[in-house]
Amino acid sequence: QAKKSGRNLVCFFDPKMEISIINRVVLERDLLIALEHNQFQLYYQVQVDSSNTPVGAEALIRWNHPQRGIVSPLEFIPLVEETGMIIEIGQWVIDSACRQLNAWQQHVNTAGLSLSINVSAKQFHKADFVDIIKKSIDKYSVNPKLLKIELTESVLLNNIQTIIEKMNTLAAIGIQFSLDDFGTGYSSLQYLKKLPLHQLKIDQSFVRELCVDSNDKTIVKTIISMAQSLGLSVIAEGVETEQQQQYLISQGCRNFQGYLFSRPVPIDQFESLIPQIA
Ligand code: C2E
Ligand code: MG
Ligand code: MG
Ligand code: MG
Repeated sequence: QAKKSGRNLVCFFDPKMEISIINRVVLERDLLIALEHNQFQLYYQVQVDSSNTPVGAEALIRWNHPQRGIVSPLEFIPLVEETGMIIEIGQWVIDSACRQLNAWQQHVNTAGLSLSINVSAKQFHKADFVDIIKKSIDKYSVNPKLLKIELTESVLLNNIQTIIEKMNTLAAIGIQFSLDDFGTGYSSLQYLKKLPLHQLKIDQSFVRELCVDSNDKTIVKTIISMAQSLGLSVIAEGVETEQQQQYLISQGCRNFQGYLFSRPVPIDQFESLIPQIA
């Protein structure tokens, strides 16, 4: 009898599960501390045009953990999206990005750079999202045309009319929208036409084997020509080789982001990539 229930206990308390719950609790606690103690940091990855001139950057969050060092967003963004902490963290990202844009606006060599931020579905769907963006823009006197909001297709799963209204309000003051990881999610061509988008961002999974995989070639080609006929600009992410960039250029893509140009780096390193005025 005892042996039997002992076995059952093993079933109910899977040690692996227990560890992951403990990790989760520790992680959640540490993330709250991280917010209080300013342990988040934005890295910047340059975006270039077809002559490799920097035209902007994507802000990518990092967690500067006192013991673990730099933690990738892939390790904590999914959890903070689940717990709702993404709202506070997202607010911090918006504020930091606008502060950075204000600093760039002060110097002639950085004044025209755009800055893209990633906004998750939960954040976008909050009732006060539009106000939060507007407030930050006002606070830092940001030129709204230089702020780009990257949304993924997962944002578009909710009430499309509300989404369009929110996007229109922000687009009306000049803010740009880019559809991130394009081609990997749920996409309705019907929506693409209705949304006030400025840019499609070709997902890096199509770019990675672009030079060896003819299916990827076809997909990339199709995305670019579709974007062109919808009047949208295209940026390719995950560009690592010159051959990939050459193929993309040959198909009409004019904006690029990837390790070929730079990895995401802290602000000082990013600014050293920008040509200085003599
Ligand atoms: P994402 O927005 O699609 O960002 C592109 C990711 O690809 C970044 O990973 C970037 O470092 C990486 N990458 C860029 N170029 C290359 C390349 O040439 N080769 C390879 N292998 N990778 C490249 P990262 O920084 O780890 O960010 C991962 C994801 O985390 C982002 O994907 C985004 O979904 C999310 N994320 C990052 N920052 C934020 C944020 O502030 N808010 C939210 N909600 N999500 C964020
Ligand atoms: Mg992105
Ligand atoms: Mg992306
Ligand atoms: Mg991606």
